[in-house]
Amino acid sequence: MYAPKPGFQPDWKLLSTVPRAPDQPRSGAIFTVEGNRWLVCLASMGEDHPPTDDAGFLEFARSLPVAKVHESLMNAEPLGPIYRSGSTENRLYHYEKLRRFPESFVLVGDSVCAVNPLYGQGITNATLGALALAEELTRQRDRRPQGDLQGLGARFQKRLARLNKDVWMRATGADGAWPQTRGLKRPGSPLRDAPKRALRAYADLLLEVAASQPEVARLLVEVGHMVRPSYDVLRPGPLLRVLVHRLRAHQPA
Ligand SMILES: Cc1cc2nc3c(=O)[nH]c(=O)nc-3n(C[C@H](O)[C@H](O)[C@H](O)COP(=O)(O)OP(=O)(O)OC[C@H]3O[C@@H](n4cnc5c(N)ncnc54)[C@H](O)[C@@H]3O)c2cc1C
Repeated sequence: MYAPKPGFQPDWKLLSTVPRAPDQPRSGAIFTVEGNRWLVCLASMGEDHPPTDDAGFLEFARSLPVAKVHESLMNAEPLGPIYRSGSTENRLYHYEKLRRFPESFVLVGDSVCAVNPLYGQGITNATLGALALAEELTRQRDRRPQGDLQGLGARFQKRLARLNKDVWMRATGADGAWPQTRGLKRPGSPLRDAPKRALRAYADLLLEVAASQPEVARLLVEVGHMVRPSYDVLRPGPLLRVLVHRLRAHQPA
């Protein structure tokens, strides 16, 4: 946590830089929170851990491709120690495949599907799972008004498995762009990998457009936080904006 120095007026509410595979793993974000304080996160990929001492933290911020994170931190004071988390793995348990499932028992949230926190989707996904559980409980009550929970657990785990597919594809798809990522099944041929590479290239272009077009930035934030479905980025509106962006980039000065 940081506090801006008296008199410093940032021209942003939330400052965020994004990593770009495969060469630019470092990213940083500053969120303004209660009490005029800043929640500051620095991140990277693989073994490139951000330091937890103040000087090293600032130096890491200075290495980001966008100078504003470092400039802003130079105008702020640390309010406490820096904490580091290294739990960036994606983990999915297939409880839905158990042949026998205990009655009156369910698993939800990270206990089933935990994804790299860098993408900020775990709480949303756990909440979607809790909402699905609420619906299943209502259905169960309608079916068995006497309060019997028989069959609920197994049915819910199957539904949750379908729900988890989205966040799992997003997180493993994004991590798959990094050569440092371990444990992924790499595709056998460049041809099979082509759609994924095309999507990643398109996502990079969308990020470029988002830097100057608030509508696209909003779209990416909403898709990133699972408020909108992933396929919204492939609608004609954003596709057209990317196309225009590319055409302008190739116009002679
Ligand atoms: C560093 C970091 C940053 C993150 N940032 C974001 C973010 O910005 N946005 C986002 O959406 N997600 C983020 N996540 C992911 C998010 O925190 C998790 O996906 C979410 O908290 C999962 O909720 P949960 O209830 O399943 O598990 P948890 O929040 O982990 O809750 C499980 C609880 O069970 C308790 N517990 C464990 N074992 C026992 C036991 N034996 N008996 C009793 N209690 C027990 C634990 O103490 C804990 O309180 C982040 C995760 C990390 C590690």
